[in-house]
Amino acid sequence: MLGEICKGLWLTIRHSFKNRVTVQYPDVKEEMPVGYRGLHKLLRWEDGLERCVGCKLCSAACPVDCIYVESEENDPEAPTSKGERYASIYEINELRCIFCGYCEEACPVGAVVLGNEYEFCQDDRGKFLYEKGDLLVERTEDYPELHARYEEKNLLTYV
Ligand code: SF4
Ligand code: SF4
Repeated sequence: MLGEICKGLWLTIRHSFKNRVTVQYPDVKEEMPVGYRGLHKLLRWEDGLERCVGCKLCSAACPVDCIYVESEENDPEAPTSKGERYASIYEINELRCIFCGYCEEACPVGAVVLGNEYEFCQDDRGKFLYEKGDLLVERTEDYPELHARYEEKNLLTYV
């Protein structure tokens, strides 16, 4: 009995001198690992055209049916994407999403990627419905974690 108490005390003393692992959030934020699956992003090519070609493969792969895509033909004079079609509507219900990553695995052009953003609490359920304008990033270089993810997961499978 006494041995057990001493063992417990020793364990407590030992841990008292270890580095604290508590992060002073939100002043300090931990860097998420490359494999972290946070809020989705829709990416563009370097020339500014949208990667998404509205093929709906992400939507078909989603096990909880939380991606809704509608596509339209590109205007040859002023295309939105590099394919024949583009996503005229792209919505993700982040409240329903289970962040499995199947959508990014299914996308043939690396258009939809799960970033490392985890701070997207809302005070209304409706605000979890992210539309294309909420997801589309203007400059991919602003999100270095997405580059790391591309390399690790080899997301560009088609082009
Ligand atoms: S991460 Fe999974 S659940 Fe979420 S949108 Fe993608 S496929 Fe659907
Ligand atoms: S994000 Fe990818 S898989 Fe989904 S519709 Fe666009 S191109 Fe297709």
